[in-house]
Amino acid sequence: MSSETIKLTAKFKLKGTPEGLDALFSTYREIVNFLITYAFKNNITSFYRLKKETYKGLRKDYPKLPSHYLFTACQMATAIFKSYRKRRKRGKAKGRPVFKRKAIMLDDHLFRLNLEAGVMKLSSPSGRTQLEFYSAKYHKRFKDWKVGQAWLVRTPKGVFLNVVFSKEVEVKGPKTFVGVDLNENNVTLSLPNGEFVQIITHEREIRTGYYVKRRKIQKKIKAGRKRKGLLEKYGQRERNRLNDLYHKLANKIVELAERHGGIALEDLTEIRDSIKYSAGINGRLHRWSFRKLQSIIEYKAKLKGIKAVFVNPAYTSSLCPICGGKLSPNGHRVLKCSSCGFEADRDVVGSWNIRLRGLKMWGVPVPPESHPMKTGGWKVSRNDIHKLYASYG
Ligand SMILES: [Zn+2]
Repeated sequence: MSSETIKLTAKFKLKGTPEGLDALFSTYREIVNFLITYAFKNNITSFYRLKKETYKGLRKDYPKLPSHYLFTACQMATAIFKSYRKRRKRGKAKGRPVFKRKAIMLDDHLFRLNLEAGVMKLSSPSGRTQLEFYSAKYHKRFKDWKVGQAWLVRTPKGVFLNVVFSKEVEVKGPKTFVGVDLNENNVTLSLPNGEFVQIITHEREIRTGYYVKRRKIQKKIKAGRKRKGLLEKYGQRERNRLNDLYHKLANKIVELAERHGGIALEDLTEIRDSIKYSAGINGRLHRWSFRKLQSIIEYKAKLKGIKAVFVNPAYTSSLCPICGGKLSPNGHRVLKCSSCGFEADRDVVGSWNIRLRGLKMWGVPVPPESHPMKTGGWKVSRNDIHKLYASYG
């Protein structure tokens, strides 16, 4: 057993724009920009130094503003200035750093959430103000979670409160792992009992469908408001649909893992050159969506006390899971080992190797060390893969 933290962000849409909130947004932006300029001129990257040197003056200029707004403004200013310095070092920042958004960072002194009543209390220059928000079903889950950082954000769609919730969970140390190989159109799982499950996702068709729609809009409608609006609408629809699909997939994967052990996934945080993820825009997009799916799988697993590990993804689809030999293509999506004759679908190979690496990471001996080398050729044929279909509407 080990303790792990889950962090999730929830969105709360406020009902209307409460009086005085817009003034608070502008005041806050003014202060953050003052602090950024101060940090810029004096080259300050320390939050404590920035706060120490500016607090008294700001207190005098904004006597009614609760002091914690000044603290979070300092935090934001140091973060913005630091990232500006980083970009400048790489030659990517011009001019001075400026904060343009209508966003306010809140700490736990500045607001109280009441999930059941659908209200939040916000400290403001005119005292504590009660703000109502639209309740969503998923908000209820956070009832016993810890409230962390939060942001009030003004968007064209209204004012939102984004809150980071965290929860400590006990995660079991697994004896075995389910290897999960994410692909554009399927997710393949290698189970510890030697079985394989493949979930057909049709993600590529969904993406292609929306891509075609966007191209049509771009051809038909000249640049302008209408075109932008339509593109945004379909972009949002695509994201919603994929999000929905990812949640269903993650639920299925976690359900299978619950019966069998931990979950092993590829570590995609480092951008590596590989066959699977090309360097171009498509590759980046896929990496991004795979990581999104992975993070959903990871937190859903943690919520059930299931361990998820991330393994090195290099050569997971080109080395033999039995003997470690090199695999070569042998027909459509089929790979064959030149040393031991093993033959299988490339998704089977990928998920199998990911599972083995998960075990290795966990200190469990794996093939070729644990397997007597099998020669004479054996294979996992397509009939050995149990297929499931992710429903999508
Ligand atoms: Zn082999």
